[in-house]
Amino acid sequence: MVRWPMRIAIVSDVHSNLAGLRAVLRDAEADGAVDAVWCLGDIVGYAAEPSQTIAALREWPLTAVAGNHDLAATRLMGVEDFNPVAAAAALWTAGQLSESERAFLLDLPLTLVSGRFTLVHGSLSDPVWEYLLDEGQAAAHFALQATPYSLIGHSHLLFWVEERADGTAAFHRADDGTVLRLGEARLIINPGSAGQPRDGDPRVSYVLYDEAAATMTWHRVVYDIAATQTAIRAAGLPPFLADRLATGR
Ligand code: ZN
Repeated sequence: MVRWPMRIAIVSDVHSNLAGLRAVLRDAEADGAVDAVWCLGDIVGYAAEPSQTIAALREWPLTAVAGNHDLAATRLMGVEDFNPVAAAAALWTAGQLSESERAFLLDLPLTLVSGRFTLVHGSLSDPVWEYLLDEGQAAAHFALQATPYSLIGHSHLLFWVEERADGTAAFHRADDGTVLRLGEARLIINPGSAGQPRDGDPRVSYVLYDEAAATMTWHRVVYDIAATQTAIRAAGLPPFLADRLATGR
């Protein structure tokens, strides 16, 4: 039975970082029961535990969309547009997946509507590839957004965008403890990355949606970076993928 109102952990860009994902979900549960997990794509790619990460997510009532790394891992999409390190990780990941894990990733939609939210990895203009980072891109995305709010990932950055009355977009950076109250204004929300932070802070991040309070709260979480690094090195993946986790770059 689904109870209402719900508390939902919103994660993105987990990238096979099992320790990062587990730390995020533990943190979300520390403040009260979590009813569901929403994932904004890039479940796999980069780190060395794709199967375990998929399994950990599937323990939850899960709503998820596909990211570019998920599609590459299924071999549905080639790796021509990836940098060499990302391509190496994608090909390695493809070799690790079971048929059922591959089928799970293949089944992920590119966009999905759940109540008042649209979920997409990149943007509604280009669901898999666009890094939504400027006001023009946000305005184009809002023009395609049929729900009051949308949830995106891909850039691994923590922020939200508010649509002003005149149709322009205002960006706001979020950090640990940032609370956003859902109201009249249409919004784009990015929880950052639960697996590979890129803003110079090595802590992973997520957003907790509290339906009763109508709030979104960003959280940064310390996790066992060494465990993820050890797994990456043991798998023979490019060492840079382990090193970067220490600096969050
Ligand atoms: Zn990503």
